[in-house]
Amino acid sequence: MNDCIFCKIINGDIPSIKVYEDEQVYAFMDITPLSKGHTLLIPKQHVQDLLDMPAELASHLYRVAPIVAKAIYNAFTPDGMNTLNNNGAAAGQTVFHYHLHFIPRYGEEGLKWVWE
Ligand code: 5GP
Ligand code: ZN
Repeated sequence: MNDCIFCKIINGDIPSIKVYEDEQVYAFMDITPLSKGHTLLIPKQHVQDLLDMPAELASHLYRVAPIVAKAIYNAFTPDGMNTLNNNGAAAGQTVFHYHLHFIPRYGEEGLKWVWE
């Protein structure tokens, strides 16, 4: 096994709060949320970033993305939501297992950008 923190979350070695799961992907609450309901969607297969992701896996992950978004809207009723992913340290990636961020936005707060 590797030292990847998100692989450990998938394996259940590190606890997480599940939002969605199927055979190929897993969504869970971010441990340091940028806003209430901040969620991450990851493939179960370890891929470093978007460039590393097989097309069929990307296709499935983005088919699931609206389901995750709707679950967050139902639970937290935000006014809007950013979905984004960081590829490479220069882009702000800190965990090198692909993840799509869902960052709910509330009122005026929604006008500010999330990454400095
Ligand atoms: P990045 O900066 O790589 O795009 O985002 C990594 C995200 O993973 C951060 O928002 C960070 O809070 C989250 N994260 C890092 N370690 C853990 C963890 O152990 N559990 C959870 N739930 N989220 C984590
Ligand atoms: Zn991994």
